[in-house]
Amino acid sequence: MKKILALVAAMAFAVFALAGCGGSQGADSSGAKVLKVGSSIDFAPFEFQDEGQKDYQGFDMDLIRAIGKEMGYAVEIQNLGFDGLIPALQAKNVDAVISGMTINDERKQNVLFSAPYYQSGLTMVVRDDEQAIQSFQDLKGHKVAVQIGTTSAEAVKKLGGVEVKELNTPADCFMELKGKGVDAVVNDRPVNDYYIQKSGATGVKALEERLTSEDYGIAIAKDNADLQKKVDDALKKLKENGEYDKIFAKWFGEKK
Ligand code: GLN
Repeated sequence: MKKILALVAAMAFAVFALAGCGGSQGADSSGAKVLKVGSSIDFAPFEFQDEGQKDYQGFDMDLIRAIGKEMGYAVEIQNLGFDGLIPALQAKNVDAVISGMTINDERKQNVLFSAPYYQSGLTMVVRDDEQAIQSFQDLKGHKVAVQIGTTSAEAVKKLGGVEVKELNTPADCFMELKGKGVDAVVNDRPVNDYYIQKSGATGVKALEERLTSEDYGIAIAKDNADLQKKVDDALKKLKENGEYDKIFAKWFGEKK
């Protein structure tokens, strides 16, 4: 009798464990677990696609692939508009979002975040010959381009007295600046710096002043604390074993 009871208990446990391990994450045709990740591939050096290249590249892309590997998941990345990322998580179209996304209270009402993985903040880019705009306070009375749905959009609106143009991508914002449709672009510092230094942009400059300090986090659906823990455990492991530092150095040079 005891044996039968033990067997029934073991079977019940097995069914429970099987049902539990899938979570909202699916499996591919080979049966490997798949982590569906959303990202707005317009944010070099975090996520971008070079012409003629099949794979998305960048710091976030390397990091999420390393996290997936650590968790035992294949990572599948979907390119979505930045303002569509949180809705995609909520609709369960993706399991996680990595997209230079700042952790803030407003977003925390709708999603969970991993531990912070990158310290960022906002700076601005103006035309080379700009005299009138030397600091954020000077933006009053000017036209400024920002990416829609971002912390830049929110911060610039808060300054007051600024005419804000919300465009789909940072590239659209920089184009608008060059075409004199706006006088400044406010955007994340590492993306502005990369645009100026690495992509060889001419006729524009980034100003030193920082409007905010912000931390990036990986966003996960509100009801998926299980995945949040897995991601945090993997991130911790990568920080401990030096893999995070390697990825960081690849995109930003050695940490100071
Ligand atoms: N860090 C900014 C935000 O979270 C911008 C992110 C982005 O454009 N990819 O709003």
